[in-house]
Order: sequence, then structure tokens, then C-alpha cells
Amino acid sequence: MSNLSGKTALVTGASRGIGRAAALALAKAGAQVLVHYSSAQKEADAVVEEIRQSGGRAEKVGADLSTPNGPHQLAKHVRSIIGDRLDILVANAGISKAVSIEEISVEDFDQLFAVNVRAPYFLVQQLLPTMCSGSNIIFTSSLVARAAVGNLSAYAATKGAVDTLVKHLAAFLGPRGIRVNAVAPGVVETDMSNFTKTEEGRNVAMGMQALKRLAQPDDIAGAVAFLASDEARWITGDILQVDGGSKL
Ligand code: NAD
Repeated sequence: MSNLSGKTALVTGASRGIGRAAALALAKAGAQVLVHYSSAQKEADAVVEEIRQSGGRAEKVGADLSTPNGPHQLAKHVRSIIGDRLDILVANAGISKAVSIEEISVEDFDQLFAVNVRAPYFLVQQLLPTMCSGSNIIFTSSLVARAAVGNLSAYAATKGAVDTLVKHLAAFLGPRGIRVNAVAPGVVETDMSNFTKTEEGRNVAMGMQALKRLAQPDDIAGAVAFLASDEARWITGDILQVDGGSKL
């Protein structure tokens, strides 16, 4: 594991799932981790406690990222803790909705874009003053941005937007020495992908993959920690498929 000691990191949506695993992996590598949560304060406390028990440094930071000023409030809170230097931003918080174009409402569509695109975009904007040469941003894309999987067109469009942001922000921020990448998981066994709770769902997920087992949050966290580290210093503008060889 690469050494992230002395680094500060913010992971959004870190109370559970992939975000939780990423927060633990970054802390294990030595980073001070800000564990963001929306409403699950107790779960965020548990993540902070787990990090501290292992000798790491962590704080929780709460904010609802579906509101227009949620990212601004979160950035303010983050800056009050870490001061002027954020080394790693993992924009992981997200929502999904399996619904066809015939049935989705405007409200649901807007909510998906608010949490999955607007929030990370403005979080980057608000935290940029704390990022400097060597800092890096890791967005969370998805397999669905490159393959038509499930009834997920609106959700998939949000991840397509994330992929576009990776390219544009990497080009814009590269001259400042700031790297921008994304991880693109396939199906991961979390609350979001609750169809994996049934045997049929598990079979569908594994049918898409070269590697025949269901991914766990930890399978993604290692890739996040790698991208965050100096080992990945020459990687920017990339969307790293972390999907067990899905839809090859
Ligand atoms: P999850 O539902 O377990 O976690 C989502 C996290 O986002 C939670 O911590 C939640 O609190 C946070 N969040 C949701 N709405 C929020 C809001 N309004 N304000 C603040 N935080 C909010 O799901 P997960 O699978 O861990 O998802 C993490 C990321 O991975 C998401 O961006 C998701 O789109 C992406 N992803 C997941 C899968 C999968 O199969 N699970 C596949 C590809 C990509």
C-alpha cells in the first residue's frame, strides 16, 4: 500500500458502501480522512471510530448534497478542519434509480443530476482554493456510462457527465499539477445495487463479468487508494474500469 501519511482526504458518501471502504483504505495508507455523510451520522461515527482505533486520524462532516448550496456548506466545513490544503477529494456520493424513460419524472431526473453531477462539480469549485500541485480528485463513474445495462438511462447520463468532467477538469487543472481521474465500478454489492440480494440478480451481474464473483466495496477502494497515491502521479484524465472485466 502506498504511503499517504501527511495527506488530507475528503470522501463523500463515506458512511457506507464504496465510500466507506475508500475512506478506510485511504486512512490505512496514512491519510487524515474526512468522512462525509448525509443523514447517517451514527454510521459515519462508526467509520471515524474504526479509523481512530487503528491509529488513524478522521473526522465526520455532514451535508445534504442534493441542495444547491450543500457542496458550499460542505466545503466550508472541510476548510474549517483541514485549513488550506486538501490533497485528495473522492467524490463518491451518488444515487441511482432504475426506471425507464417512459416512466421517469422530471423531479427524479433533476435529483439524479443534482446529487451525481451538480454536487461534485460545485464541490470541486469550492475546494479548489485548497488544492495545489500534487492534489488529486477522484470521481465515481460507472460501467453504465459506457454500456447499456439495466433500466438506467437517466442515471447513466449522470455518469456520462462525470466522465466528461474528468477530461475537461484534468485538462484545466493539469497545469496546476492537480490530477483528475475516476473509477468506474461495475456491479458492486452495496445498498445501491439491492438487486444483487436475489439469486437472479446475482446471476445477471456475474453474467456480464469475466471474473465470476460479485464485487465488494473493498474491490473498488484499492483502486481509489492507488489513484490517490504518488504511484499514479502520471495518470490524469483517466476513467479506470474497476469492474472485474464487465461487458468486454
Ligand atoms: P450506497 O447507496 O451504499 O452509497 C451512496 C452514498 O452516497 C451514501 O453514503 C449516501 O449517504 C450518499 N448520498 C446519497 N445521496 C446523498 C445526498 N443527497 N447527500 C449526501 N450524500 C448522499 O451506494 P454505493 O454503491 O456505495 O455508491 C457509491 C458510488 O458508486 C455512487 O456514486 C454510485 O453511483 C457508484 N457506483 C455504484 C455501483 C454499484 O453497483 N453499487 C456501480 C457503479 C458506480
